[in-house]
Amino acid sequence: MVQIPLPVALVPLSTVDYPSKLSCVLFFKGCNLNCTFCQNHELIDTSLRKTLSIENVLDSLVGRSFVDAVVLSGGEPTLYPNIHLFIKEMKDFYFKEKGVDLLVSLDTNGLRPRYVKSISKHVERFAIDLKVTDGNFNDVLRPKYNIEKYVDTVLKSISICLDEGKTVDVRTTYSPSFLSLDDLFFIVKKLMEIGFNGRYIIQRFSAQNIREEAMKYKEPLVNDLEIVKKKLSMIVDSNVIKIV
Ligand code: SF4
Repeated sequence: MVQIPLPVALVPLSTVDYPSKLSCVLFFKGCNLNCTFCQNHELIDTSLRKTLSIENVLDSLVGRSFVDAVVLSGGEPTLYPNIHLFIKEMKDFYFKEKGVDLLVSLDTNGLRPRYVKSISKHVERFAIDLKVTDGNFNDVLRPKYNIEKYVDTVLKSISICLDEGKTVDVRTTYSPSFLSLDDLFFIVKKLMEIGFNGRYIIQRFSAQNIREEAMKYKEPLVNDLEIVKKKLSMIVDSNVIKIV
């Protein structure tokens, strides 16, 4: 019997994880990166045994008829080859119960473009992280296997989603400790080159719930972050890429 992958944790209601929608967020364990600044590091531990049951998840949806969407996060959900079965289970159930389609969003680090292509027909939206440039990729993201072209690989995932007509948000967590303004210009230019048309979200690095080794990173001042966003906005057509 094919095993349906199950999440290890659930946030029953979020107003921020799916733009303009109320969503329920599900977290899957494990990750192919081990980012120094990961705020979900408890979840990336693959030895976590306890999972939610599919009934837990469906019950949670039934109790929240106002939820429009489910966000699959982690950890790294693309590590699960059968996640489409889990999505199907939720969508079928929701349609039967509510008579409406459930939207699904997938958060990913973008390192598995072929997976992204195969799952795209089951997902309405992607949030893809483009975290750093190739220069400091290994030090900051600490991949579990050799990845030669980090930026190109993530861009490939983004391009696939665009080709499939999906809504895509690209996200970068900013701290001046591991990203310079030039790095961000580089990322934005790369996004323009592939014809990205969506929201480019620059998140402020927060020192909350991080591991000790990430304490060395500086939290940017809110005002500094706004200045960075303003400078980036000057090189993009805001009708095409929205710097958020
Ligand atoms: S990709 Fe995300 S979940 Fe994985 S280690 Fe990095 S921050 Fe954590």
